[in-house]
Amino acid sequence: MSLSLRSAAILGAGLMGRLMAAALAQAGCKVDLFEAGSSEAEGAAARVAAAMLAPLAESAVAPASVVRMGQYALARWPELLEPLAQPVFFQREGTLVLWHRQDTAEATRLARVLANTGTQVPELAPMQSVDAGAIATLEPSLGQRFAQGLFLPGEGQLDNRALLASLLATLERDPRVTLHWQSLRTPSDFSPGKAGQPDWVIDCRGLGARPQWQALRGVRGEVIRVHAPEVSLQRPTRLVHPRYPLYIAPKPGNLFVIGATEIESDDMSPASVRSTLELLSAAYAVHSGFAEARIVEIATQCRPTLPDNLPALRLPQPRVLQINGLYRHGFMIAPAMLDAAMEVLAQGHSPLAKSFGMETQDT
Ligand SMILES: Cc1cc2nc3c(=O)[nH]c(=O)nc-3n(C[C@H](O)[C@H](O)[C@H](O)COP(=O)(O)OP(=O)(O)OC[C@H]3O[C@@H](n4cnc5c(N)ncnc54)[C@H](O)[C@@H]3O)c2cc1C
Repeated sequence: MSLSLRSAAILGAGLMGRLMAAALAQAGCKVDLFEAGSSEAEGAAARVAAAMLAPLAESAVAPASVVRMGQYALARWPELLEPLAQPVFFQREGTLVLWHRQDTAEATRLARVLANTGTQVPELAPMQSVDAGAIATLEPSLGQRFAQGLFLPGEGQLDNRALLASLLATLERDPRVTLHWQSLRTPSDFSPGKAGQPDWVIDCRGLGARPQWQALRGVRGEVIRVHAPEVSLQRPTRLVHPRYPLYIAPKPGNLFVIGATEIESDDMSPASVRSTLELLSAAYAVHSGFAEARIVEIATQCRPTLPDNLPALRLPQPRVLQINGLYRHGFMIAPAMLDAAMEVLAQGHSPLAKSFGMETQDT
């Protein structure tokens, strides 16, 4: 794709900011990346996320347009990871959905929703109902603990922290990129297109963009990372739960991400006792080996979310592109958002975004 811009200032070095910086630099553009925090991404939702890439599972709470973006991204991630400076754990071993007997009604409702998604988005691999024997074959360490479940083939996950670190290493070695840490910026700090200024400003500040995009809200999520040498799971496991979908996502090195609460609040205070008890009890109920796990981290972050819970590309003024509202699907849809944003920068509009039903908003 040939770009008309030669330079860009990118605000926010979370998920979208790092991806945009790498893509623009790769396309020959001079990039200045400004981040309010440090290179550790401590203020980014991307650092806390479980980074599951589960379009069908997420269709329980997401419309078909987001599911399609997720399906597109599953094929696109390996291409994006391939040129990075360091390897990033990525797998497509599917998602296992389980439930306890008392949650059967909720599980039946979920199965109906997923079946309906399957008809709306036929490119998805069909879900499979699995019995105790099939569950034990997929996840031997779960034995015969669950009588039934759903298996969603082809769904994926990646290691979010390895991705952020690898993107950082990629940007650090690129002479076209200048990284500015502890550098809080807003689009109004720039006059894009003027002499001595970047050609474009790309705003990827997540919730940090709220002062200029007031419809944004935070949706609080609490997540626990444990080290559990006694537990072996091949793929993310979701547990049907009446209030929010719980999951256990296995990462390299016997690390497990257990999450996530979903609370309509932008409160970033530490995790509550109730949430911590619920998450850990759920994990223990799935596998008793979590009893001896060591708690590595209990973290809270807020998902940057727009009123319709859908992602958006917005051009609030000429030469300023805002990418936001990635909500709880940031990793799942980031490649689609990235490719759509690159189309906007190359040709002023995005057929890809349109194909996902996402209009580029001029304001
Ligand atoms: C608990 C939890 C679990 C999640 N699990 C998943 C999952 O399993 N799968 C999935 O696909 N998604 C998941 N997500 C969602 C995903 O993390 C987000 O959608 C994604 O990180 C949003 O990316 P972003 O780049 O827009 O924002 P962020 O990743 O939040 O990055 C924004 C960056 O901008 C910086 N910034 C803010 N203000 C300024 C400023 N004024 N100047 C400069 N820099 C600034 C911030 O410090 C931050 O580094 C989860 C999120 C949470 C909170």
